[in-house]
Amino acid sequence: MGELCQVVFFLPLSKAYTYRVPPALEPRVVMGSRVLAPLGKRREVGVVVALGGEAPGEVKDLEEVLDHGPTLSRTILELTQWAARYYLEPWGLYLRGALPPHLRHKGLPRLPREKWVVFRHGEGDLTPRQRELLERLERVGRASLKVVLKEWGFGRDLVRRLESRGWVVLEEREVEGLSPFPLAPREEAHTLTSAQKRVYDEVWGSFGTFSPFLLHGVTGSGKTELYLQWGKRCLEKGKGLLVLIPEISLTPQYIARFTARFGKEVAVLHSGLTDRERLVEWLRIKRGESRVVLGTRSALFAPMGEVGLIVVDEEHDTSFKQEESPRYNARDLAVVRAKLEGCPVVLASATPSLESYHNALKGRYVLLELPRRIGGTLPQVKVVDMAGEKGLFSRAFVEGLKRALGAGGQGLVLLNRRGYAPFLLCAACGKVLKCPNCDITLTYHRDPPMLRCHYCGHSESPVDHCPGCGREMRPLGVGIQRVAEELETLFPHAQVGRMDKDALKGRKAHWEVLGALEKGEIQILLGTQMVAKGHHYPRISFVGVVLADVGLHLPDFRAAERTFQLLTQVVGRAGREGKGMAVIQTYMPSHPSMVYAARQDYRGFAKEELERRRTLGYPPFSHMARVLFTGTSREKVEGVARQVAGDLVGGARGLEILGPAPAPLVRLKNRFRWHIIVRSRSRKNILAVLSNLPRRMGSVKVQVDMDPYGVM
Ligand code: ADP
Ligand code: ZN
Repeated sequence: MGELCQVVFFLPLSKAYTYRVPPALEPRVVMGSRVLAPLGKRREVGVVVALGGEAPGEVKDLEEVLDHGPTLSRTILELTQWAARYYLEPWGLYLRGALPPHLRHKGLPRLPREKWVVFRHGEGDLTPRQRELLERLERVGRASLKVVLKEWGFGRDLVRRLESRGWVVLEEREVEGLSPFPLAPREEAHTLTSAQKRVYDEVWGSFGTFSPFLLHGVTGSGKTELYLQWGKRCLEKGKGLLVLIPEISLTPQYIARFTARFGKEVAVLHSGLTDRERLVEWLRIKRGESRVVLGTRSALFAPMGEVGLIVVDEEHDTSFKQEESPRYNARDLAVVRAKLEGCPVVLASATPSLESYHNALKGRYVLLELPRRIGGTLPQVKVVDMAGEKGLFSRAFVEGLKRALGAGGQGLVLLNRRGYAPFLLCAACGKVLKCPNCDITLTYHRDPPMLRCHYCGHSESPVDHCPGCGREMRPLGVGIQRVAEELETLFPHAQVGRMDKDALKGRKAHWEVLGALEKGEIQILLGTQMVAKGHHYPRISFVGVVLADVGLHLPDFRAAERTFQLLTQVVGRAGREGKGMAVIQTYMPSHPSMVYAARQDYRGFAKEELERRRTLGYPPFSHMARVLFTGTSREKVEGVARQVAGDLVGGARGLEILGPAPAPLVRLKNRFRWHIIVRSRSRKNILAVLSNLPRRMGSVKVQVDMDPYGVM
């Protein structure tokens, strides 16, 4: 009869299907094997999640085993299954997400090859550019042609000339992985300060056992240096280091700090890789060639052998939450993976999420603190009440920026709002222009002139006259493009660099802006929240927040926390070397988000905000799930939402059902949206009522978001 096995397919299904293993395949089928099997009329690719089991009647044969040995480890199988149960999403989609795209289909991809430039010798008559390339090559031995042309910026002709003279040779070889900066000069480890040493020892003392830590360390307190040193110890013990970081913080500079210590041991995984690059990195990790893995949220599923330590840097960052199916929060799953691996996990931030901080206060995580910067002091911060000011910038703002620039420093200006103005308004009849697809006003952009919807991408030409009454339409409110305009008028000799979604085209654009800043080609860096994230700005001595209230009034119970984090992070960018100053402009100068951010007092803020959450019954004092109903018919969406809410109220034990209600964004991309918020002190109760909810009822789509971030 032959052995049986259980297969989960890379499809929106959680169910495991039973197959018979034909004797010829038996030696090759193990847990984690990638296989091809018949499913209905088709043949699909899936993973063997278990061997054995009961035959549920007629059982079909497996058709093919696609790889040698397990493609997914037991840990990854368990981790993805855990996620499926927790987030109520199909297991098959997590398994699929754990693999590079090439391995989601049948067949073994051939390993990509590429041209390499190999150093031979470097004597003789050389132009300075030729000498520069040879010197760089000599240091590393060889580099891929792509890196030489694209990353280093040498011309193809120059390479050819060196080749014809025998100074370099071009070779075809297997792609060796990306770490596109193998060149960072080797950097020695710093001697840890006594504060760092305490943190270092505490975590190292838990090596080999599961143990969660929350590292609360201000910007520049030496956290990254600790990751590097822990990494070194992990390697010495034959284990790996996994560092998860937000996409935007994963800059060449950040990667270089790791490659400078670990060279080719570093693998990098992020969403900007091509499928091929992703495969190469994945295979290097799987084969154990790269044991230091640096990546964004999906790197959580990296196929590492033994993991010595997991770090989640900037753990409060919302980009760890995947908002499409399969939903998950990589920060939370990192703790689960650490448990499965039996290793410590360090969640680190200058402004930890209140969930993590609460866990630390409750003793579930060990709290570690690095309250002081290494070199440099925290800036002086002034909160300015805009009620008493005229125009966009207060006097304190203008003077602070002037002084910084005058002393040869740089300024950082934040306004977390895209476009030129949030909308065009007819002053006569009050008409504003809305998106035809969404229930949202169109943002006015000036370069080029355009009205844009930031939710669906709709754009149209701006109108000068009101379509209703024919009078003049005027931009109302302030967006980042208007700030740029005014800065250029006030500081005509300063170069203003912009960092926001509209100014940056292409995935490397923000690295380029950072490069220009580093070289001093830009004196003022103006940006949205992007500028607050994880970059090092050594020469910024002034930080100005144009309007700190943006975002504070969103219908989101985390609005105050987000605002505090953003302000604290951006203010922390000032004065990394030498003295710095920051100005926060607001109409709510006594709001806790302003007051505590100005004092850089995380603990004070956390205490007050946690108390508020406790009173209101919000997380971390309750668990929450959001059920979202969407469809093209307003009546049907509302009807289904009401019906489900009714059923939930009936079946609810220890549950609080909020709604049904129209979502704050009641129409998005031409779909109507209603939602229900389910709250409970017990997550089990939530799972009990939501786990059997169908995902489609008639024409209405039903989505469940556990631990939602934002409920727009
Ligand atoms: P964080 O990750 O907390 O922002 P970093 O690790 O980047 O902090 O450290 C900030 C700066 O201080 C970096 O330039 C780093 O090289 C330097 N640094 C870190 N630890 C030490 C140390 N023990 N001695 C000297 N310099 C250090
Ligand atoms: Zn729209």
